[in-house]
Amino acid sequence: MKLSSLRIPRGMRGFESGLAEVFDVTLSDGRVASVEPALDASTLRGTLISCPVDAHVHIDKNYTVREVGPASGDLFAAIGRMERHRALWSVEDIAARMERALQQAWRSGTRALRTHLDWPGPEAPRALAAFEQARERWRGRLELQFVSLTPLDVFADAQAGERIAQAVRRAGGVLGAFVYRNEGLVHKLGRVFDLAQEHGLALDFHVDEGLDADATGLRAIAQLTISRGARRPRVVCGHACSLSVQPPEQAHSTLQLCAEAGIGLVALPTTNLYLQGAWDSTPVPRGITRLREAAAAGVRPMLATDNVQDAFYPYGGYDLLETFGLGVQMAHLAPAADWLDAITTHAAAALGLGWDGRIAAGCPADLVLLAARDEYELLDPQGRARTVIRAGRDLEEQDTELEEPQR
Ligand SMILES: [Zn+2]
Repeated sequence: MKLSSLRIPRGMRGFESGLAEVFDVTLSDGRVASVEPALDASTLRGTLISCPVDAHVHIDKNYTVREVGPASGDLFAAIGRMERHRALWSVEDIAARMERALQQAWRSGTRALRTHLDWPGPEAPRALAAFEQARERWRGRLELQFVSLTPLDVFADAQAGERIAQAVRRAGGVLGAFVYRNEGLVHKLGRVFDLAQEHGLALDFHVDEGLDADATGLRAIAQLTISRGARRPRVVCGHACSLSVQPPEQAHSTLQLCAEAGIGLVALPTTNLYLQGAWDSTPVPRGITRLREAAAAGVRPMLATDNVQDAFYPYGGYDLLETFGLGVQMAHLAPAADWLDAITTHAAAALGLGWDGRIAAGCPADLVLLAARDEYELLDPQGRARTVIRAGRDLEEQDTELEEPQR
């Protein structure tokens, strides 16, 4: 396959581009064979990116809003509603919902997803069995990772923490916790870090998901990561909404610590817009974390989907480019094309994927060809029209072949 006269965003170029801005790309045997300056740079045909990576989703509870109800912007109300319903779900219910989400992600061009699984106590949840089936079914197409999502206070009980960490290790997952203004926060976080180091696990936190300026979990996590020295676990933090309402100097110093700690920071624009800010009047503070300051401090910022059609966020779907567009508008991420790294290369690094998402001869031909001819059209629905290329072939053509009757 030959793809002609395309833009490739700067951060996604795994090759020396010199002064060239428009490229011809050839694919063969499921890989990129060559990337060259375009023979015809005058007729732009679109933008080529590597398949996006969704660093933070919740496929165990998506599509439950009709049953559970929307929480009208109250995070803790959403947690309460979900708790009452979770016990009723069978592995089959959860598996069906997961499959719906993954199908949509696959069609949209996503190549890897990291999902959090509600894990409220020491017992592994039913969602883990459904997840393991999905991971197996999608192997070789979508790379799936999971994080155990446990209230931080559960780790105060040493035995409970140990059981969770053992189960996560057995199932090949990432250890996580929900952290918000907990009592004895540093001590409990220290226990989570101990478990990660003892079991060789990476960490991923829901942290400071609220607009209280005294929520400083992110800072504590960065300090703990640094204090663990060379054997520190790999750490990703999601939300960090409170960073947006802290004094700029305080936020800046926290982000410098995050950079030193190598923490990946994920903003979740859809859920944060929905859950943060007033509901009795037009909301003005909206809770997006300080993405631009994070980038300036040397932290790799990411944008991810988070909740889809559940109590936490009753709308949305698994098209990461939609979330990207919202993030660009919400946080003034310009030039937009430079921020495509937030849903591709940065997320690939944070998740430790085998391919860093840079396009170069020899890389996998798992690509999305967008109609957008420049950064402005990236936020235009027509510009987001796309051809998803999987293993060097147009996904729609592969589908047509599958539908042909066997003769
Ligand atoms: Zn989340």
